[in-house]
Amino acid sequence: MGKIKKLLVANRGEIALRVMRSARELGIKTVAVYSEADRNALHVRYADEAVLIGPPPSSESYLRIEKIISAAKSTGADAIHPGYGFLSENEDFSQACEDNGIIFVGPSPKAIEVMGSKLAAKAAVAKFNVPLVPGTSEPITDVKSAKKIAAEIGYPVLIKASAGGGGKGMRIVDKEAEFQEQMERAISEATSAFGDGSVFIEKYITKPRHIEFQIFGDKHGNVVHFFERECSIQRRHQKVVEEAPSSILTPEKRKAMGEAAINVAKSVGYYGAGTVEFILDDNLNFYFLEMNTRLQVEHPVTEEITGLDLVKLQLKVAEGEKLPMKQDELKINGHAVEIRVYAEDPANNFLPDIGTLRTYKRPQGHGIRVDDGFEQGMDIPFYYDPMIAKLICHADTREAAIEKTIRAINEYEITGLETTLGFCKFVMHHEAFRTGNFDTRFVENYFKPEVLQEKPTETENMLASLLAVEILGSSKPKRTEATQHQVSLWKKNRTL
Ligand code: ADP
Ligand code: ADP
Ligand code: MG
Repeated sequence: MGKIKKLLVANRGEIALRVMRSARELGIKTVAVYSEADRNALHVRYADEAVLIGPPPSSESYLRIEKIISAAKSTGADAIHPGYGFLSENEDFSQACEDNGIIFVGPSPKAIEVMGSKLAAKAAVAKFNVPLVPGTSEPITDVKSAKKIAAEIGYPVLIKASAGGGGKGMRIVDKEAEFQEQMERAISEATSAFGDGSVFIEKYITKPRHIEFQIFGDKHGNVVHFFERECSIQRRHQKVVEEAPSSILTPEKRKAMGEAAINVAKSVGYYGAGTVEFILDDNLNFYFLEMNTRLQVEHPVTEEITGLDLVKLQLKVAEGEKLPMKQDELKINGHAVEIRVYAEDPANNFLPDIGTLRTYKRPQGHGIRVDDGFEQGMDIPFYYDPMIAKLICHADTREAAIEKTIRAINEYEITGLETTLGFCKFVMHHEAFRTGNFDTRFVENYFKPEVLQEKPTETENMLASLLAVEILGSSKPKRTEATQHQVSLWKKNRTL
């Protein structure tokens, strides 16, 4: 095993930078890999060395195991960090590293394989007394028998892809008449997205809350958890606002879920960083959903409330060190909120809105962290995830963290494309969010694009006229580009 001297980061964007920064603090040299679309990307400039691995599509670059292994060999990197997405949950990649004498900063190929299949994962954890959502334990293939099972479970049910991820390959079925069509759709979506059409049925939990536990294991059999993250604000079954801790967990519930999460990890001899996802019903009964065998997008909220650097810890564990803490030494410090700033148009069903960042100014100040991979003037490439940044705010209390997030959103200036900033501000102000009384249907229950389209009010029009007089010395005020810009800035900075 031994110390890591040079780390290749098999990823791009904010996560590649985030990993390299921690490596640098540990005195580890860094190697970036990049596609032709990322020639000028920040992670390429930040790294000590960079290797071009192919054309823009990820299937020809960031997903090519042999190209990444050969980049590691040619630069003499002794370890690879996979980030999230791309090859991070690919057991063949973890195995290829091992076969080439390169340390993979992540769990064993076996753990990735078992947890990569939602069905295999359920089978593994069932033996450890972890509660599961009622449903099938085998893939379903025959519509007739599947309908029978669905009727026994009771509608609504969810048809899910066993190999699924990123909220894809999932269909809610409200009644039997829709079952066959939805099952066929789920199978075809799963086949095209994951190359594996196995689907299964789960009871659809109504008023579901998504609460996940950050776990960490070392190579000596120790496993701890770093508390939970609440990730119920989602669009298309994908997270957009996360926080830690959850406002609804009692210390007893936290203890029970934390113990279940540790058991999930132990069921596969897990080491490294991992996330155990649970779904909770409206009586706070919790059920295991899946385990993500990597660093999660939303890991910073956990870092903020524990004071830990999870990437440094990953590197230490990969080097074979023991976890430096025990469960009972850990405690929650304050509250953290993360919002994901996507280049998406919330008014248009959150469809990607890629383009150029004409203006890009980050918020600053006490308790504010921005993890991003872009600068003003850069293009958001169309080939990859349209996430621009993560904004993380930490404060003593949940309310203060929410207020800080609003202040930070108001300071954030992004023009040139639509983003989820306005939507996130809407969430921060919403009564349901503020009182903690929400579930994963928040968007469908409360969000309408109209809430973002503020019309100028009388006062704003008057202000525009006054500004026009001021700026142009004109006695016949008309709305010029400059005054409109002033007004829109003013409106932007005003709270919703
Ligand atoms: P998280 O809980 O960390 O947000 P997600 O499931 O949303 O996890 O995925 C994180 C990242 O990985 C996203 O960029 C997503 O697009 C990508 N991703 C997730 N699953 C897959 C998959 N099976 N194949 C390719 N990319 C994936
Ligand atoms: P993925 O691999 O795509 O992340 P998950 O199993 O983690 O798949 O589910 C993603 C999201 O879908 C959850 O966060 C939750 O919002 C919703 N979901 C999943 N299973 C259920 C269920 N049985 N009942 C209600 N919602 C569910
Ligand atoms: Mg999930």
